[in-house]
Amino acid sequence: NKISGNPNSYVNKVDYVFGRTLGAGAFGVVRQARKVSTGENVAVKILLKKALTGNDVQMQMLYDELSILQKLDHPNIVKFRDWFESKDKFYIVIQLATGGELFDRILQKGKFTESDAATIVYQILKAVEYLHSRNIVHRDLKPENLLYLTKEADSPLVLSDFGIARELNSDDELIRKAAGSMGYVAPEVLTTEGHGKPCDVWSLGVVTYTLLCGYSPFVAESVEGFLEECTSGRYPVTFHKPYWSSISEEAQDFILQALTVDPLRRPTAVKLLEHPWIAGKTTKTDNLL
Ligand code: ADP
Ligand code: MG
Repeated sequence: NKISGNPNSYVNKVDYVFGRTLGAGAFGVVRQARKVSTGENVAVKILLKKALTGNDVQMQMLYDELSILQKLDHPNIVKFRDWFESKDKFYIVIQLATGGELFDRILQKGKFTESDAATIVYQILKAVEYLHSRNIVHRDLKPENLLYLTKEADSPLVLSDFGIARELNSDDELIRKAAGSMGYVAPEVLTTEGHGKPCDVWSLGVVTYTLLCGYSPFVAESVEGFLEECTSGRYPVTFHKPYWSSISEEAQDFILQALTVDPLRRPTAVKLLEHPWIAGKTTKTDNLL
């Protein structure tokens, strides 16, 4: 496989003292830990082999997650540190983000000012631009997977959870098997017509909408309901009054572009970084990077 060697994998675990649980996921938990030899506090994603083995697809996904994470080096992407395994578990050691999920800040604040939202979206766009330039599609971009490095209000934001990320063999390779999170997933992912990089831009559009008004653009609970919503005559997405009355045309245009149903007509992350709402409103971002 593509994971770089780790001959001491059974031994390395001894160097970590495990602490509190940071989050629970589909295949296990994420716990805080301290690397004794360096004193660094880290996050460790612990995956139960029992939940993985007997299923080659899931094993392959673990290797994909590890091999993708290992390659990434960007200020807005969580950093890989180490990995090891025991008899019944895999451990993925990552940089600790102590500031919590963007999801929780949305719950706390209700919604963000346009300037704060643009600063957040800019950082996500930089992460996505970086991934896409390396032919990596994240496929699970949502506020639960966007973490603040510190508790400060202006902490840098990092994209995490490469659990269903995929590395494409070419720019335009299409993935057929649906994966993602309801509410954030792009329509072309669900129709299984084939999806690639544009699906991350759609999810970014959903996140942007949510940041600005505090609620989701898509409320359908079923795949059919959602597909019907975004292909019906009522689409494009609705900016309900009075919630959107004081939100700029530029912000709404940004969202409309990101939420373009046809993935071939949806702008790329590079293109959206040039959008006036992003290019004009993010004054504070340069000293974040
Ligand atoms: P899953 O694939 O199960 O969703 P995630 O990688 O998203 O797993 O981790 C689940 C949760 O654990 C995250 O939503 C977050 O709250 C927490 N978490 C994950 N990685 C870190 C980290 N590096 N620092 C702090 N908390 C983290
Ligand atoms: Mg997650």
